[in-house]
Amino acid sequence: MSQTPETAFETTRFAPSPSGRLHLGHAHSALFAARAAGPQGTFLLRIEDIDLARCAPKYEAGIFEDLAWLGLSWPQPVLRQSERFAAYGDALRRLEEMELVYPCFCTRKEIAAEIARADSAPHGPDGPLYPGTCRRLSEAERGARLAAGEAHAWRLDMAVARARVGPLEWHDRGKGWQRARPELLGDAVLARKDVPTSYHLAVTLDDAAQGINLVTRGADLFHATHLHRLLQALLELPVPEWHHHDLLTDARGQRLAKRHDALAIARLRADGRSPSEVRALAGFPDRPV
Ligand code: GLU
Repeated sequence: MSQTPETAFETTRFAPSPSGRLHLGHAHSALFAARAAGPQGTFLLRIEDIDLARCAPKYEAGIFEDLAWLGLSWPQPVLRQSERFAAYGDALRRLEEMELVYPCFCTRKEIAAEIARADSAPHGPDGPLYPGTCRRLSEAERGARLAAGEAHAWRLDMAVARARVGPLEWHDRGKGWQRARPELLGDAVLARKDVPTSYHLAVTLDDAAQGINLVTRGADLFHATHLHRLLQALLELPVPEWHHHDLLTDARGQRLAKRHDALAIARLRADGRSPSEVRALAGFPDRPV
């Protein structure tokens, strides 16, 4: 079993996107969050459905069904990110007033071409970083393109934002104190062209709004926390603790993803597995062996 929380009253959350059925990796993450909250704490469920094109009500229903079947419960009402676009917009405007974000008109193709042209392209954990093309636009060009209604994302001006708040740290219960290195993510997108927010902005605002004081999630999002810590400082939000857990892998050592249908909780259930068996498969046996 993972470490027990240091204080009695943790508020944790499991925050899946309803874009497919939950699999064993999700079960691990949900059980990890619920266990971290403990009997005295609060375990919340949040539906991360900003990507309206990929999310579907049937998957949201599947999340509720699978988690309840696993034996989890959570307070109502459940927060849906799709109902929070106004709050995300307010935060974005605040960052705009602070002159920390800029509109980015680039298409993926243009970004790829710009990176290919460059002698050296800095890489982050998710690939090459945005080369800063639209950061360098003149005020006149920026204004004209906005006035013309050209589609645009909003990016954080990372160098300016970091300089504004100075050095930051954050604490992971597994890995200890971390020096925040948001520059690893470059000029991150805070609002997409098709969605008026991004994962990073929405999750940071929601964790604060929901009083989450222990953010648990998979180690694949460890680097995202550097940026979330910076956003908290810029937007004067409370700073939680984090605990990034290892990812479950399949028999061949590959990360579980939604395409692993055989490991979908619904499938395991249909195959006659009990909740207790599935909890054990997800790394949480009812009685430690
Ligand atoms: N919605 C994210 C996912 O499904 C998790 C976000 C988080 O826990 O911060 O991977």
